[in-house]
Amino acid sequence: MKVVKTANKSWENRHEVFVEDINDMYIPGNESALDALDSYNDATKGLQQLIADAIANNTPLRALGAGWSWPKIATVKNGVMLDTKQLNTVFTISAQSVSPACAIEPRKLLFAQSGNCIWELERFLFNKGMSLRTSGASNGQTIAGAMSTCTHGSAFDFGSVPDFVVGLHIVSGANKHVWLERASAPIASQQFIDNLQTELISDDDLFNAALVSFGSFGIIHGVMIETEDLFLLESSMERIPYDDGLKHIMDTLDFSQATGLPNGTERPFHFSVLVNPHDIDGGAYVTTMYKRPYTTSYSKPVSNTAGIGPGDDAPSFIGLLSGMAPIITPLMVNKVLAASLNIHSKQIGTLAEIFSNTTLRGKLLSAAIAIPLAETSRVADILIEINKDGNPFAGLFSFRFVKGTKATLGFIKFPQTCVFELDAAFSNDTHLFYERVWTRLEAENIPFTFHWGKVGELNPERLDYMYGDSIDKWLQARQQLLDADTRKIFNNALLQQWGMDA
Ligand SMILES: Cc1cc2nc3c(=O)[nH]c(=O)nc-3n(C[C@H](O)[C@H](O)[C@H](O)COP(=O)(O)OP(=O)(O)OC[C@H]3O[C@@H](n4cnc5c(N)ncnc54)[C@H](O)[C@@H]3O)c2cc1C
Repeated sequence: MKVVKTANKSWENRHEVFVEDINDMYIPGNESALDALDSYNDATKGLQQLIADAIANNTPLRALGAGWSWPKIATVKNGVMLDTKQLNTVFTISAQSVSPACAIEPRKLLFAQSGNCIWELERFLFNKGMSLRTSGASNGQTIAGAMSTCTHGSAFDFGSVPDFVVGLHIVSGANKHVWLERASAPIASQQFIDNLQTELISDDDLFNAALVSFGSFGIIHGVMIETEDLFLLESSMERIPYDDGLKHIMDTLDFSQATGLPNGTERPFHFSVLVNPHDIDGGAYVTTMYKRPYTTSYSKPVSNTAGIGPGDDAPSFIGLLSGMAPIITPLMVNKVLAASLNIHSKQIGTLAEIFSNTTLRGKLLSAAIAIPLAETSRVADILIEINKDGNPFAGLFSFRFVKGTKATLGFIKFPQTCVFELDAAFSNDTHLFYERVWTRLEAENIPFTFHWGKVGELNPERLDYMYGDSIDKWLQARQQLLDADTRKIFNNALLQQWGMDA
């Protein structure tokens, strides 16, 4: 494996909201002179060597995806960060590579090296007539980075990114790498395991814990994903009254009495609601997307004059609100929203065309908080109330809906989950607003969790409130997979602050 040691001493995240002091940033890459499998296995050995060096030098190590997360979850102060994006080989899967007990057709499986960006996988799959099953609103994350924080869209009958991952190849020590899959859902044949020169561990608890482990379970080298036949999404966004009818859908996902949606009572694949707290009477912006069979006869989705496409969400324009005085916030939010939002009717595109890459404009903050579905409109009322009582919120309230995940620490933890997002300008006022929101949720006894890749405020007590026994299960799995020396290396300040570095 090639490794470029950049000698960089600092690293800034994608949103430019923090800079971390580091010892070095390494960029590992596959050996091009070798064939794909040999090069993959050579990279496994290279990653093991990096872990051995880190242990020998007592220097912490952490894999970086695309650097899209807001907290310092991919960084390690005075340690080595590993930019994984060049590790982007993919392997299609033959019948010989899957276990006879595997319930998934081999043509639907894809084995991807961890640094593949979501858009790279989508491009590869498109050429095979296949698609990812879901994604976030944009597609620039790496597959391992997106999975590791439980990145989600609003596919409320499917789930989030970890829910299409069915096998993991993890370099978990200087002398250890393992293939992890669920015992209840076998995937790999012995031939596949032999090809990767690895060891099979079939264990639901270990697998579920490793799925959302934010860089703390070693280096995820490869990810087996389940894909599906290419499909189209028919997307519309319209403004409809924020009334009891809409609130009923938000609290239940029951579309049987829906009025005002583009296809009446048909159950969409994706449903999301954007509320502008400064103009509630004007109605909510509701996006519905219906799944349609793939055909080539459609016009690709188009961006509006502000360059915002149908799948783009608030982060693509909300940074424009940075640096303004609170007194003009409502006016500016209305102005930016009117100029940016992409009201559209029945635009058609593949998942990758609708949820394509995002251009960020300005510095912004984003918090995403998961709550049980039935609490959605109650929480919306709380947000509206908090906004009236204090400096106005320089952003929007958005609501997405996702099926609960099996990942032990997946923050999409409620069987039917609403994720409400508070995307706003970067400022102290935004942080204050966030604090008031979570203090109020606690005061009202509303269960909630934070997106691991967005702004939150975690401590051991709050983690216990949010996840209970699952924290112990996750810690036990980490202890089972990583020896003490390796655990010490894959540590960082956030894990320590959360009491999860044990
Ligand atoms: C414009 C924008 C839009 C977004 N939209 C959404 C959205 O729609 N839905 C949503 O849920 N989130 C969204 N996010 C948040 C984003 O999806 C998550 O923060 C995601 O984790 C970022 O992926 P990444 O590849 O950048 O990973 P990073 O932020 O680089 O890393 C995330 C975690 O993964 C770990 N990691 C990465 N690679 C490996 C590896 N190979 N082995 C072990 N650990 C690894 C890192 O250590 C870190 O802990 C958005 C962010 C931005 C900037």
